[in-house]
Amino acid sequence: MPQHKYVYYFGEGHADGNAKMKDILGGKGAGLAEMTNIGVPVPPGFTISAEVCTYYYAHGKTLPRELRGAVRENLARVEKSVGHKFGDPQAPLLVSVRSGARASMPGMMDTILNLGLNDETLKGLAKSANDKRFALDSYRRFIQMYSDIVLGIDRERFEHELVRVRDSLGVESDAEIPAEDLDDLVTTYKKIVRETISKDFPQNVEDQLQDAIRAVFDSWNNQRAITYRKLNAIPDDWGTAVNIQSMVFGNMGDDCATGVAFTRNPSSGEKRFFGEYLPNAQGEDVVAGIRTPLPISKAQKVGDEVSLEEVMPEVYAQLEDVYKKLEAHYRDMQDIEFTIQSGKLYLLQTRTGKRTGFAAVKIACDMVEEGLITQNEAVSRVEAGQIVQLLAPVFDAAEKQKALHSGRLLGRGLPAGPGAAAGRVAFDAERAVAMAKDGPVVLVRIETSPEDIAGMHNAAGILTTRGGLTSHAAVVARGMGRPCIVGAGALRVDYRRGELQSDGHEPLEEGDWLSIDGTTGEVISGRLPTKPSEVIQVGIEGSLNASASEIYRNFDNLLKWADRIRRLVVRTNADTPKDARVARLFGAKGIGLCRTEHMFFAEERILRVREMILARNEAGRREALKELLPYQKADFEAIFRELEGMPVTIRLLDPPLHEFLPHSEAEISVVAKEMNWRYDHLKQKVEQLREVNPMLGHRGCRLGITYPEIYEMQVQAIFEAACSLKAQRVDVRPEVMIPLVGTVRELQIVADMVRRVAGEVKQRHGVDVPVIVGTMIEIPRAALIADKLAVIAEFFSFGTNDLTQMTFGYSRDDAGTFLPEYVDKKILAKDPFDSIDQEGVGELVKQGTKEGKSANPKLKVGVCGEHGGDPDSIRFFRTCGLDYVSCSPYRVPVARLAAAQAELELKHFEG
Ligand code: ADP
Ligand code: MG
Ligand code: MG
Repeated sequence: MPQHKYVYYFGEGHADGNAKMKDILGGKGAGLAEMTNIGVPVPPGFTISAEVCTYYYAHGKTLPRELRGAVRENLARVEKSVGHKFGDPQAPLLVSVRSGARASMPGMMDTILNLGLNDETLKGLAKSANDKRFALDSYRRFIQMYSDIVLGIDRERFEHELVRVRDSLGVESDAEIPAEDLDDLVTTYKKIVRETISKDFPQNVEDQLQDAIRAVFDSWNNQRAITYRKLNAIPDDWGTAVNIQSMVFGNMGDDCATGVAFTRNPSSGEKRFFGEYLPNAQGEDVVAGIRTPLPISKAQKVGDEVSLEEVMPEVYAQLEDVYKKLEAHYRDMQDIEFTIQSGKLYLLQTRTGKRTGFAAVKIACDMVEEGLITQNEAVSRVEAGQIVQLLAPVFDAAEKQKALHSGRLLGRGLPAGPGAAAGRVAFDAERAVAMAKDGPVVLVRIETSPEDIAGMHNAAGILTTRGGLTSHAAVVARGMGRPCIVGAGALRVDYRRGELQSDGHEPLEEGDWLSIDGTTGEVISGRLPTKPSEVIQVGIEGSLNASASEIYRNFDNLLKWADRIRRLVVRTNADTPKDARVARLFGAKGIGLCRTEHMFFAEERILRVREMILARNEAGRREALKELLPYQKADFEAIFRELEGMPVTIRLLDPPLHEFLPHSEAEISVVAKEMNWRYDHLKQKVEQLREVNPMLGHRGCRLGITYPEIYEMQVQAIFEAACSLKAQRVDVRPEVMIPLVGTVRELQIVADMVRRVAGEVKQRHGVDVPVIVGTMIEIPRAALIADKLAVIAEFFSFGTNDLTQMTFGYSRDDAGTFLPEYVDKKILAKDPFDSIDQEGVGELVKQGTKEGKSANPKLKVGVCGEHGGDPDSIRFFRTCGLDYVSCSPYRVPVARLAAAQAELELKHFEG
């Protein structure tokens, strides 16, 4: 049997792995290997492959036998490289044991620093570093982390003691605690351990290492990691790698520091090195938001903060070289972690930086400009779903000025996630989830932690009073696209009283309205009204000039590049001229679904509709329909005008008639009065028309067959509108779509009627317009007889909402009661109403398209369900050979981008 390679070394300028090996080394391990290979200073270490994690879970949480030897071997290489031995009581080597999966899961899994310390090696470390305080600081950190992660002792118990010591000394930061007090603290910590697990803190360093490795594998399945994976669609079976790396120390004195940085601004995308650091600190201190970190550069500083550039100019210069090298090498914005030990710089992590939709678009466009990437790469880099952020409303500038002048500004923080959010204040994640059911919530915390993830997800905006732009809150909010402000230091959150306080203002309590501007960092009390984003102002309203908006220009460029690549046409689902116009301005090339029933609900018409439904006989129905005809005709004219020269697919009436009738007693009595009917009489009629399963009942083309006069009126309206516009030389292209077809005869009967009525209208007007008739494919049976339908229809449009509903047998309106649990239990990978079920429903789309096109090569095929705006579904539809997707107007830009990305992937795949 071939020996598995479980462990990959990196150090002395060479690594076994590289950037391409994320699958087995995880993102962190691959980054460490790559940085080592390109000559960036990285402390030596090695990575245990994620395959070992898979093995671990597959074998009842046991590790492969060969692992121990491989670890020992590689540890020996590290010892040789660093010149210290693991467990050596004179001058010990310490290591970190770091999690790191294929996809970045910031802070969700565990990492242990300073491993290899015990009562003996502590003395050695103090002696060899000639710094007792530093050694004790490292030890107390280690005991706390190890106890939490490996021994399962709540870290709060240690934190509590630490705070107690800080308070009793009257100091603000851990760095100010003197050695004697740290010594006492270590004693207290060890006592907590002994009391909790009835054993001493483990002194054997080999055991420490083995148990830490296991604990990191275990952390793959902690609750927050599971939640994060679910929110980000990361498969549970990927597993994490484990990185074991020699420690470098940012906590050895004032010429030491630790920090994190982005090669460009992850919030706005601005091209400027951007980061934060803390002097004399270690590891997670910056991210944890315990102290508000300092700016890295002079350009970035505010007030009298001291930047790294000023205190350590040489190291800063080195850091600049490294970041430029990394960005040029990866050709993308990087998010880096570094530590400075006694004036020497080390990189501990690099990864492609998470960014907002704003930053993603700007960075991609800038990098094309800089010649760093191609237009195709720019298109493939921006996550399609993210660009909706550029369409989200911003605060109305005038209203905001008014609020600021009237003293409603509570304070400012760092703009961590752009966009405007107004909502009710919630002080904890659970409350945020609960309150979000009744309206927008702003989650207000001192700082957030991975436990808050669900609350953050449910919040419209996030505000913290501590932490920097790289704090947990900032990183997660950016990933989610939430408006976010962090480090609003002038504000105070008092959890006990449930108040957000700021000097000179009444405190805000849970449920009070708060507005945050994540683009500027302003925190404003009350509820500020919003107005359209720059993209909307330029592209839709025309109220702003393109030359005045870089955001718009980048957005527009990116989508133009996408249009050059893609083959899938994007249409829109629109029922009104206004929606049609918006969609056209967003780049839609026609309407894929115009629902006529919405037109029936408008005032004046609903009365006629009800008369029609309640009519005693056909003559009565025709009477009422005659009244409706001019309305329908006017509707269609307006829409045709808006989309001149483009196809407009009009679906004939689809919902069960009962939906148009009043339901409650009160409604019935109002309508009875309006119609001059007796209450009892109307009530009885309504009862008669009620169906047990209306969605499977008398609707769609079944209506058109039993009440042909309804469809006839609609077809007449469509073609009268078309003919009268055509006579005015407007290029109209109506397409008539028949819903809910399940048999050939159904389609045949209705299609014949459409062609007949259209012909009559054309003849009367003496005008020729093309008559195109197609069918929806939304009943599984229709997909299965696609070849037969295709010889009657000129186009197919997959109605994937109904098709999903009927293929699964899930009622779309009721599935909310069990679908979440199905996803939790992995019965379904995703909610099939959000993203198409490729295996089942998708197969019907694929087969139906193939059969349809082979029976009728001229058949056009599209999708008009919600899935038409979902990037993953769009990718799939492209592989099915569809001609177009149709989605709601605001999803059109997403679909354009996703369609281009699908094309690039396909090309890549086909070589
Ligand atoms: P996360 O994935 O949560 O960021 P990391 O494994 O990156 O966890 O580690 C957390 C922190 O510890 C980081 O700030 C990192 O820079 C620091 N750290 C990790 N390993 C070392 C090391 N060998 N020497 C010094 N600092 C380290
Ligand atoms: Mg990290
Ligand atoms: Mg339908």
